[in-house]
Amino acid sequence: MNDHRDIEHANNWIELSSGALLHNATLFRRLIGSDLAFMAVVKANAYGHGMLPVARTVAESCVDWLGVFTASEGIALREAGITVPILVLGATSDRQIDGAVEADLRLSIMSTGGVRDLLNHSSCASARVHLKLETGTNRQGLVSADLPEAISLLRGGGVSIEGAYTHFADIEDTTDHTFAAGQIDRFGALLERLDVTVPIPHTACTAATILFPDTHFRMVRVGIGLFGLWPSKETQVSAAALERNDLDLRPVMTWKTRIAQIKNVPTGEYVGYGRTFRATRPTRIAVLPVGYADGYDRKLSSGAHTLVRGTRAPVVGRICMNLTMVDVTDVAQAGAGDEVILLGAAGDESVSAEDLARLADTINYEIVTRAAPGSPRILVP
Ligand SMILES: *Cc1c(COP(=O)(O)O)cnc(C)c1O
Repeated sequence: MNDHRDIEHANNWIELSSGALLHNATLFRRLIGSDLAFMAVVKANAYGHGMLPVARTVAESCVDWLGVFTASEGIALREAGITVPILVLGATSDRQIDGAVEADLRLSIMSTGGVRDLLNHSSCASARVHLKLETGTNRQGLVSADLPEAISLLRGGGVSIEGAYTHFADIEDTTDHTFAAGQIDRFGALLERLDVTVPIPHTACTAATILFPDTHFRMVRVGIGLFGLWPSKETQVSAAALERNDLDLRPVMTWKTRIAQIKNVPTGEYVGYGRTFRATRPTRIAVLPVGYADGYDRKLSSGAHTLVRGTRAPVVGRICMNLTMVDVTDVAQAGAGDEVILLGAAGDESVSAEDLARLADTINYEIVTRAAPGSPRILVP
């Protein structure tokens, strides 16, 4: 994990509000009640927020489980001293199985091939697995016809079947939840076919957790909501219709950089590649040492705002690989070295992940997940 010294020399960095993270975790805990297990999904570097600081913070709060995509992520959490149960949501390759079992990671089983790989390792007798069941997303999952063979092989190998789960195809994409309801029905039918009692069935991502208590089963798997973001507008609309929209989610991420240089650009001069911006007044331009290589998407060119000294400063011209120019003519006293917020809030102003997603033609998930790869992450109050 990083400390404040690391950001002194960084071109851009991420500040994580531990207060917001704990606040969001508490909201979800209240929503599901005290009996169910609560998994925080921290795959993809905790959606760009930083896996270790996020995992450490939530594992000491009301979160019981962590979800990762790869066994390597799970092993990194164990090496950082994290002891809560961890489920690997992706497939674990043959050569990672022994290490994963030794680290007490729960493995997902999503094909009969995966079962055979596991049984080739003597470590399988101490493995605990969760069966990923196909209910309509057609991405990863055992189909009904695979189940009898998979179960009998696993039992024969002494593998403990701890969980069974599925994932919704379109629950955050629409306000019509007919397909999701069908997936729950199919999941229920598959659980019955298993003919073993699985202690922890689970299906709910953030949207399902918020909208439908009948998706909670014994555990929920919350990713985006924990970071203070709604899965989609449709989820917010559906939540309002169900009067479940009183959830006060608080964004956890603030993405910052610093002004590298101020340039005075005379009227009529151009700024940047392609000469897409031309000054129509004497213009003060702040040069920021951040660009599309840092996940500041080129589609944000001439569209996004940043916050400088609490004032909105628009991106002018094209975002470059490592540099971005913003107009600070109207920001009194903006100077080299000033902090600039690329994503986050200052006073009454904010630049949200949704604002940037709209401009970049994507979803809030992608904006935060791709922010500032390799740059420092620090926890702030
Ligand atoms: C990523 C993921 C989640 C979390 O989804 P959110 O919409 O971010 O809450 C849950 N379950 C599985 C299987 C996932 O891959």
